[in-house]
Amino acid sequence: MIFEGQSIQCRLRDKGIAEVCFDNQNESVNKFDRATLNEWLQVNELLAEHKEVKAVMATSGKPVFIVGADITEFNELFSSSREDLLGWLVEANKAFTGFEDLPYPTAVAIDGMALGGGLEMCLTCDFRVASPKAQVGLPESKLGLVPGFGGSVRLARLIGPDNAFEWLSTGKAYKPEKALAVGTIDAVVDSEHLVASTEQMLLDAVEGKLDWQARRAEKKAPLQLNKTEAMMSFMTSKAYIAGQAGPHYPAPVRGVQLIEDSAGMKLEDAIKAEHEAFADMAQTEQASALIQLFLNDQVLKKKAKIASKTADIDVKSATVLGAGIMGGGIAYQSASRGVPAVMKDIKPEALEQGMDEAIKLFGKGVKYGKITTDKMAKGIASIKPTLSYEEIKHTDIVVEAVVENPKVKEAVLTEVEGLMPDDAIICSNTSTISIDRLAKSLKRPEKFCGMHFFNPVHKMPLVEIIRGEKTSDETVASVVAYASKMGKSPVVVNDCPGFFVNRVLFPYFGGFTKLVRDGADFQHVDKVMSKKFGWPMGPAYLLDVVGMDTGRHAAEVMAEGFPDRMSKEDKDAIDVMFENDRYGQKSGSGFYVYGKDKKGRPTKEADPKAYELLKEVAADTKDFDDEEIIARTMLPMIIETIRCLEEGIIDSPAEGDMALIYGLGFPPFRGGVFKYVDSQGIASIVELAKKYQHLGKAYEPTTGMLKMAQDDKKFYPSDLS
Ligand code: NAD
Repeated sequence: MIFEGQSIQCRLRDKGIAEVCFDNQNESVNKFDRATLNEWLQVNELLAEHKEVKAVMATSGKPVFIVGADITEFNELFSSSREDLLGWLVEANKAFTGFEDLPYPTAVAIDGMALGGGLEMCLTCDFRVASPKAQVGLPESKLGLVPGFGGSVRLARLIGPDNAFEWLSTGKAYKPEKALAVGTIDAVVDSEHLVASTEQMLLDAVEGKLDWQARRAEKKAPLQLNKTEAMMSFMTSKAYIAGQAGPHYPAPVRGVQLIEDSAGMKLEDAIKAEHEAFADMAQTEQASALIQLFLNDQVLKKKAKIASKTADIDVKSATVLGAGIMGGGIAYQSASRGVPAVMKDIKPEALEQGMDEAIKLFGKGVKYGKITTDKMAKGIASIKPTLSYEEIKHTDIVVEAVVENPKVKEAVLTEVEGLMPDDAIICSNTSTISIDRLAKSLKRPEKFCGMHFFNPVHKMPLVEIIRGEKTSDETVASVVAYASKMGKSPVVVNDCPGFFVNRVLFPYFGGFTKLVRDGADFQHVDKVMSKKFGWPMGPAYLLDVVGMDTGRHAAEVMAEGFPDRMSKEDKDAIDVMFENDRYGQKSGSGFYVYGKDKKGRPTKEADPKAYELLKEVAADTKDFDDEEIIARTMLPMIIETIRCLEEGIIDSPAEGDMALIYGLGFPPFRGGVFKYVDSQGIASIVELAKKYQHLGKAYEPTTGMLKMAQDDKKFYPSDLS
C-alpha cells in the first residue's frame, strides 16, 4: 500500500501501475471536500517520488466516480473574503495540477457519475476510459458558478471552445457516447473490462505506443484558433447563451467569457483567470440562492428516504378517482414510474380523454428518447380505466381527484372507504377543502391525508402532503414515499385554508388587484414581475392560466379562513373578469385574449376591452415604479409565508422555499421567500412592510418578524452543512 487514507487509497498493482482509488470510508459517495483534497496532495507527493511506479490509474471504489466538490462547504468558503477564496482555489488546484504533472502516464477508469470536480479530476489525466454507466459534465452553472478546478481550461483544449461553451452553459450530464463523440473521453468499455482496458492503455503509453506527453502538452498550451474564426464563434455563442440563460443567470455567459479570455493563455495563466471568474460568481446572490436550493433539495430527498423506511405501506398499486385534468395526470404519473393505476370515473368520455392524454404523454417520452416503445406499451397497459369499483378491493392507495365539491367528495370518500382494504390509504387532491373536514366523513381518519398535485401533474415537481389533525405519521410517511416513487418532491404541511402554497399565493393576487384598483396597468405589472422579479409569468397572466372561476372560488375560501388579511371590501379585477365571462385561457379571454396563429400555435395578446371593463374597479391609470410594484405584490406573500412557518404549517424555511419554487415557479435564482428575505435583510423587509401597512393587514409584519429584525436574525444559518 502506498497510501491509506479516509478518502483515497493508493496501491501498486502489477507492472508498475499505481492505482489511486477514491473511496470515502465515511460517505456513500466520493466528493472533493477539504480532507479529500488534502489526501490527494499527499498521494501525489508519494507517487512523484516512488521508484517502482511507471504509470498511474485513477479509479473509484463506489458506484459513482466523484460527484463533485462538497457543496456543504461552499457557504463558509464563499462568505469569506475574496482573498481567502482565491487562496483556497490556489491550494485546491495544487492537487489537480500535481496529479497532472506526475512524471508518468495517467489514466482514469470512469464507472459512474463524474460531475463538476469529478470530471475536472478526469481532465487532469492523459487518458479517460468510461463504462456505459458513466455520466460526465460540468454542472457548475446550475449553481450560479463556473468551474474552479481547471475544468474550463482543460475541457476547452480537449474538445474545442464551441463544445466547451455548450458543456459549461447547459451544465448537462452527458452519456459516454456523447462524451466520446466530442473527445471528452477516449474510449467506452463495459464495466467488466474497464480497469483492464485502462491498464492496457497505460502500458501502451509506457511502451511508447501512445504519446502521452504530446497529449499532455496539448492540454497545457493555448487554444489553437484562427483569430477571425474565434472572434465570430465567441461573439455568436455569447449572444446565444445570454439569450438562453436570461439576465438573472450570469454564470453561463461568464463561463464563455472565461474561455474567450483565457484562449491565448498557457494552462497556468488560464487557471488563474478561472480563479478570478470563480470568485466573481461565487460571491453573487444568485450563486448563494442556487446553492441553497441544491441543499434544500437534498433536505427533501433525505426526508423522503426516511419516510420510505417508516412507511407502513409500500404503495405498489393505486386507484385514482376522477379522470379529469388532475386524475388523468396523476394516473399517468403513477404508471410512468412503475406503480400501476386504476382510473375510475363516472363518465366513459372522461376515461377516454384521460387515456388519450396519458397515451400522448407516453408518446412524447418515446419521441424525445426518454423511454423505449416497450416501456411505453407497459406504461399504457398499467393504467386501467374503469367505471366500476371492482378493482378497489386490492388497492394500496386511493387518490381522490373528483370535482371540487365538498358534498360530492364526502360522499365519494365514504363510499370508497367501505370498499377498499382496511389498511389502505385514502388521499384527496382537493385544493380548497379542509382535510379535517373531509376526514369527518371517514371511519379511519388516521389513514387519510391531502395529496395536492399541481397542474400539469407531469411537469410540476411539487406534491403538498397535507397532514390532518388525525392523520397518522405512518400514513404521512407512506404518502411521502409514494410521491417520491412517482418522481415528485413531496413537502409535508399542516392543514389550513389554502394549505401552504395557495395560502401564500392569494395574498400576492390580493396585492396585484389592489395595484390595479389604484391605477396600475396590469401589463406593466406582469412585465415587472416576470422580467424583473423573475416569475415565469406575471400575476394577471397567471390568473388567466389558473382560471378566473377557480381563482375567485379559492380567494373566497381564503377570505373566509383569514378575513383580517384576505377578505376584500369591494369588487376587484378578478370579479370583473369573472362577471364578464372572461375566465382566462380556458374561455379564450381574461386579462388577455388567447387564440392561435396561422401555424396553429397558441397566442396571447393585449385586449383594449379588458381595460374598458376594468374601469369599473380601477382608478385612472397611474405610473408605478418597478420597486413599488414588486413591494406591493411580494410583501403580502412574504409575510404570509413567514406566518406559515411561525404557525407550524411548514416545518422549515428549506421546505417552504422548495414548495414555492417547485409548486409556483418562484424564481430559483432568488432561492424562495426565506432566502430572498435573508438576502434583502429582514430589517429592510420590515421597513418596507411598515411603509405599505396602510394598504391593509396583509402588509403588517408579524411580531416574529419584528423580533428577528431587532435581533438581526436570518432564516438560514450561515453554516449550511
Ligand atoms: P375535472 O373537472 O377536470 O375532473 C373531475 C373528474 O371527476 C371528471 O372527469 C368527473 O367526471 C369525475 N367525477 C365526478 N364525480 C365522480 C365520482 N363520483 N367518481 C369518479 N369520478 C367522478 O377537475 P380537475 O381539474 O381534474 O380537479 C379535480 C380535483 O383536483 C379537484 O378537487 C380540484 O380542486 C383539484 N385540483 C385541481 C387543479 C387544477 O389546476 N385543475 C390543481 C390542483 C388540484
